[in-house]
Amino acid sequence: MSAKSLVTATNLGFPRMGANRDLKKSIESYWSGKTDLQTLLLSAKNLRSHHWYLQQTAGISNGHIPSNDFSFYDHVLDHSFMFGVIPEQYKSIQNKVDQYFAMGRGRQQDGVDVPALEMKKWFDTNYHYNVSTLSPSTEFKLTPLIGDKVKPVQEFLEAKAFGIRTRPVILGPITYLLLQKSAKSAPSDFDLLSLLPKLLPLYEQILAELKSAGAEWIQFDEPALVMDLPASVTTALKTAYERLHESQPYLSLLVATYFGTVQEKTINTVLELPISAIHLDIKAPEQLDVVLSKIPSGLVLSVGVVNGRNVWKANYEKQFALVNKAVSALGKNRVFVAPSCSLLHTPHSLSSERKINSEIRNWMSFSTEKIDEVVTLTIAANHGIAKVQGAFDANLKANKFREASPLIHNQKVKQAVSNISPSMLKRSEAFEARNRAQQAKLQLPLFPTTTIGSFPQTKEVRVARQKFKNGEWSQEKYDEFIAAEIGRTIKIQEEIGLDVLVHGESERNDMVEYFGENLEGFIFSENGWVQSYGSRCVKPPIIFGDVSRPHPMTVKWSAYAKSLTQRAMKGMLTGPVTILQWSFVRDDQPRKDTTFQIALALREEVVDLEAAGMSVIQIDEPAIREGLPLRNSEQEAYLKWAVDAFLISSTGVRSDTQIHSHFCYSDFNSIFTAIKKMDADCVTIENSKSDLKLLTALETFGYSSGIGPGLYDIHSPRVPSFDEMKERLEAILTYVKKDLLWINPDCGLKTRGWTETIASLRNMVEVAKAMRK
Ligand code: GLN
Ligand code: ZN
Repeated sequence: MSAKSLVTATNLGFPRMGANRDLKKSIESYWSGKTDLQTLLLSAKNLRSHHWYLQQTAGISNGHIPSNDFSFYDHVLDHSFMFGVIPEQYKSIQNKVDQYFAMGRGRQQDGVDVPALEMKKWFDTNYHYNVSTLSPSTEFKLTPLIGDKVKPVQEFLEAKAFGIRTRPVILGPITYLLLQKSAKSAPSDFDLLSLLPKLLPLYEQILAELKSAGAEWIQFDEPALVMDLPASVTTALKTAYERLHESQPYLSLLVATYFGTVQEKTINTVLELPISAIHLDIKAPEQLDVVLSKIPSGLVLSVGVVNGRNVWKANYEKQFALVNKAVSALGKNRVFVAPSCSLLHTPHSLSSERKINSEIRNWMSFSTEKIDEVVTLTIAANHGIAKVQGAFDANLKANKFREASPLIHNQKVKQAVSNISPSMLKRSEAFEARNRAQQAKLQLPLFPTTTIGSFPQTKEVRVARQKFKNGEWSQEKYDEFIAAEIGRTIKIQEEIGLDVLVHGESERNDMVEYFGENLEGFIFSENGWVQSYGSRCVKPPIIFGDVSRPHPMTVKWSAYAKSLTQRAMKGMLTGPVTILQWSFVRDDQPRKDTTFQIALALREEVVDLEAAGMSVIQIDEPAIREGLPLRNSEQEAYLKWAVDAFLISSTGVRSDTQIHSHFCYSDFNSIFTAIKKMDADCVTIENSKSDLKLLTALETFGYSSGIGPGLYDIHSPRVPSFDEMKERLEAILTYVKKDLLWINPDCGLKTRGWTETIASLRNMVEVAKAMRK
């Protein structure tokens, strides 16, 4: 049988960090000056070759193992650099690698002091990319980072020298342009896509070099195609791919769409492009039927059936049916099996997870295992299930067990969710009445002062937690330490003169992990890291089952803190959407259901905190904006359940208990109506860096409850002066009624040192006092 008549096993991208975050370690060691560039380059090369061999050995077809999916910092930055989009302020840095890192993370060295390029979230993932600024006068120029060849060519040749034929992955021109932002100097009607004619010659050049290096397939990532796009995109798509095809008619081009279904009008255009294959994320199987019904003969379909966004085993029964459907319609030679998207968003391998409950572990699959799934499905499609019967049986068994497992299902929780009544989504009185009751009880001055929750997590705090975790310290000893830490934090706040105090969160490692550890339905991996940005990785908790609260989670320390002071104490919780958003979630029920389960657990906690004497309770929802779906048509439904989840957690209390919420990391303008519907008594918002435009939005949406727009930026050790904050407050007062205004920093203080924290808060409280006069 010739290779042509078979289904092909393919991959779109492999995580870069390595089994033990090796890349992070090499890069950080280079940054700190401990190792030199040669060492960094060598370790990167080792990682790449290791990942290529791993995929080859697993059975990914030659020619369809991705290259150029590697990056020292960020793949979008790689493209900007490769296209010579290097802003003036970085040009004085001679060494190209240092220049590249300066763009990624800023640089303060040898008289150079430049900030990083802005970061933005990569679609709806938790990966952040660096944004470049473009204008009509932007000129592009091919710029190699290392050696004399641009990265896609260099990595292709590197793999070739190892005897591995790869499929270079390049960010498609449409997505690349749409991901950048226009310069302030650009005319207001400047269309990023208008730069296409200037950019395409560079793509042509790269293709020519890849062709002569021996490449056959090129993967163009175009995830932007799953967004709501203006009509101009259709023309741009045609222009781009027609030109690229004409320039290299003998190269096979694959256009990869992922993170959702492609809009109907866009899919028709994509199917007509002179390309060799299209990749679809089979998130919604309906799209497969649509595409199969109109795909032109000659076009290969890459079916993204193995989910690259979660940690769960594929369901061979379901996924194989999809692959088969494609094979029956198109024939084997026109089908590629693939993960839904690059595996960048899934940890490296399950093999190092020894502590996870073995039953649950058997339901899971990280990147390395997902590669095996792609290969197994491909073999089954080519030679029948019998060829991989063992793997199929094991998969079906694991999924059956999972479906019925008592570890997952808690009838009481399911019952509680279905019993959620409209009255649980509403405070018993409206804001005005609550406000009166709260004022009568709290007796707060005008411009009340508070903080967002955490106080400095010093090295001692982290060391203490480490000692407790590894058994060196007993529970008693650790508790004593935390109690002392809380005592100190309260004293300092009283001395500074803050009005609403917090306990400081010193018992919490992380605002989501802490709750995950205290709730049923969560597990934690030992090594399940995924890249968040640059060298930074996160290890999200894994929600595997119905979530419930076996015991109070925060009451002990909040109550202890309350017992130390006469002032109002604010209880501190992480909200349901943020807990969901920063975890790996179940794929066997809608996100909404999981969120409601978390919300119910938090509701119990809120009520307990009230009973323990907390007159103010803050439920942080910094990630609420992140969860917003990419497509407009899905946003309303999301915002509805996200708001409901917050209401479920927060409305179990009396009118005289004040509910706060906190938002950061995002531009909240687009979801203001939702924030209003959350009906908190006060929201504090990270706002110190933006130009008060948020407050204009507030006014427009008629927000009229308490608000604390951060008075200073906690992301820097700088101590803001009295004058500076007073000026800012005065500016804020032109938008916000004075009796609604709270005075607070813009986020938690855990990354700060004590000295600057105390000095900054002192100045902040002085401003409030001065303004009261
Ligand atoms: N309460 C949290 C803290 O202060 C809030 C953190 C956040 O907004 N990301 O640390
Ligand atoms: Zn924050």
